[in-house]
Amino acid sequence: MPIKRIDELDLKGKRVFIRVDFNVPLKDGSVTDTTRIDAAIPTIQHARDAGARVILASHLGRPKGKEVADLSLAPVANELSSKLGCEVKLAPNCVGDEVSDLTGALQPGEVALLENLRFHAAEEKNDPDFASQLAALADVYVNDAFGTAHRAHASTAGMAALVGERAAGFLLRKECDYLGRVMSDPERPLVAILGGAKVSDKIVVIKSLLERVDTLLIGGAMAYTFLRAEGTGVGNSLVEEEHIELAGELRDEAARRGVALLLPSDHQIAPAPDAAQQAQTVSGAIPDGQMGLDIGPETSERYDEAVKRARTVIWNGPLGMFEVPPFDAGSMAMANALADSPATTIVGGGDSVAAVVRSGRGADITHISTGGGASLEFLEGKTLPGLAALE
Ligand code: AMP
Repeated sequence: MPIKRIDELDLKGKRVFIRVDFNVPLKDGSVTDTTRIDAAIPTIQHARDAGARVILASHLGRPKGKEVADLSLAPVANELSSKLGCEVKLAPNCVGDEVSDLTGALQPGEVALLENLRFHAAEEKNDPDFASQLAALADVYVNDAFGTAHRAHASTAGMAALVGERAAGFLLRKECDYLGRVMSDPERPLVAILGGAKVSDKIVVIKSLLERVDTLLIGGAMAYTFLRAEGTGVGNSLVEEEHIELAGELRDEAARRGVALLLPSDHQIAPAPDAAQQAQTVSGAIPDGQMGLDIGPETSERYDEAVKRARTVIWNGPLGMFEVPPFDAGSMAMANALADSPATTIVGGGDSVAAVVRSGRGADITHISTGGGASLEFLEGKTLPGLAALE
């Protein structure tokens, strides 16, 4: 069954439990970046306008199953109250009599925020008893937390089947729509760009994308394992010796499928990541004693050309050690290439999202995924428990 969106349900007078992602950064008891709170507002506001009694729940940090005062959602409740222009009642817990009294007394349009779900170890264990206590609070279950959709926790999976009706919030549905478009029936050519540190982390996603894409561009440190498989010298670059053979097999698989798999042809190199002042560009083999730390300008241009021909682009993983300039140049160029492209452009993964944000071109990307791990598992073709629970 397809996943419903919150605006397909009648919420009037119902107790609507919305699993949101309020895992925000805090400093001295204040929220330092409200992006995640802002992103949840359309779903919350829709529920209020539709006459729902709104119950919000999230995890925050890693309290490891214990009550940790510094990880209370109180600062989020304050922030949310001012953004919504109404009082958001913070429950003292997320289950128990006090919580059901408080949520049971909500009037249509009113909002309560449950305390940090991960104060209970039962949340991450997907404990059935805990899940049914959460479910008992609600008539409708809505999930709008894509970042935890790849986890089978009580609030993301266990409770869903125990509530009468289920739907995705606007954020979660947008993630499914855009990432789903890459996985089935994309506008072609479909170009994927994969970067990051390790081939081993991306084996499953590479295999999955080889079944779907027209062109696969490889960057980041994992390119050196592929280049080694071709017999190209890579100096002291990061290489996963145990995966060289696999990289060769993936290259052969791409050729069999008619997928153009492109590797860097020039590099930004230095003796070490902390020797940026000695950075230089090299074409072809990397000399001994030098590390490849970013794709070079010629590679950037080749990759830019491939992006220009695409109708759909998905990017996951930085193309170099982008935290250390000048080794951010390749990732900045890619961010600009996507931003300038008229194609549907999708960026997932914490580091590539950070690179796009740093480029200042985020507004020109069609969809920036909010979940690093979840977007990778989606692209691997895995069934995400949080999505399966809504079907
Ligand atoms: P991942 O978590 O696998 O997506 O990898 C992201 C990390 O890969 C970032 O911290 C980058 O600094 C790092 N990285 C990307 N390219 C390189 C490279 N050529 N050499 C070393 N580290 C790299």
